[in-house]
Amino acid sequence: MNYQNADLHCHSVVSDGTLSPEDLAQRAKSNGVDLWALTDHDEVGGQERAIKAAQALRLPYLTGTEISVSFAGKTVHIVGLGFDHLHPYLVGGLGATRGGRDARAQEMSSQLEKVGIKGAYEGALKYAGNPHLISRTHFARFLVETGVCSNTSEVFRKYLTNDKPGYVEHKWATLSDAVSWITQAHGVAIIAHPARYGFTPNEEYALFTDFIEHGGKGVEVVTGSHTSEEATRYADVAREFKLCASRGSDFHSPTESRIDLGTLPPLPSDLTPVWSLLEPRVHSNQ
Ligand SMILES: [Zn+2]
Ligand SMILES: [Zn+2]
Repeated sequence: MNYQNADLHCHSVVSDGTLSPEDLAQRAKSNGVDLWALTDHDEVGGQERAIKAAQALRLPYLTGTEISVSFAGKTVHIVGLGFDHLHPYLVGGLGATRGGRDARAQEMSSQLEKVGIKGAYEGALKYAGNPHLISRTHFARFLVETGVCSNTSEVFRKYLTNDKPGYVEHKWATLSDAVSWITQAHGVAIIAHPARYGFTPNEEYALFTDFIEHGGKGVEVVTGSHTSEEATRYADVAREFKLCASRGSDFHSPTESRIDLGTLPPLPSDLTPVWSLLEPRVHSNQ
């Protein structure tokens, strides 16, 4: 099947998005998406709802998640698509990696307290709903709500990134873990928004070669996180490493996200789209 407007990356309230899986499904459908995936961070708890909502709308759907891994001192995101979302190996691995979020959030909060920001843990938790899903984005929303910053990107710049007062390093899953959780659950692993990591050429080469060695199959080329120059550059990387290409908005919220679901430019036509590997995994009632 040749999908013209696949959008295989977005977040719901199950991680750090602001819309429900049902509202995202509706928004994807209204925006003309013809193959959709919900990819909450380290979590598959929204998959059943997304599958049901997509089926009710006759919107072809692939299961999804976005797993944080530590690589060369940075956090890299690996998107998984088309897996069995009840597979115990994947569900268990994601559960273990989420376990560290609460401790990190408490440490972030005590650091923020030292620079005069009180109650950040409780404030962020109110947005997250669950201590095992608490993330920097939830802290960012609290700091905007309390007037410390005027928008979430300012919060990240001033407080939540490397060397800033609220930044706490977190040891995520390894690259090999994340890729094996996805592939053992019959899915396909993809490097998310590679331009965002700021790796040196050598580090990036190591990331791609290790990823492929562990069984990774794709790279996001067209994403809400890439400029058109970056999309061109990673189209070349996909050709060089013979990887499939993926496309996804990384939509989080109508007020915070620059790129809406289903509004990205197409993939370069010579690349092999990642959905060509996943046709039997598409949930569809058409
Ligand atoms: Zn990401
Ligand atoms: Zn994302």
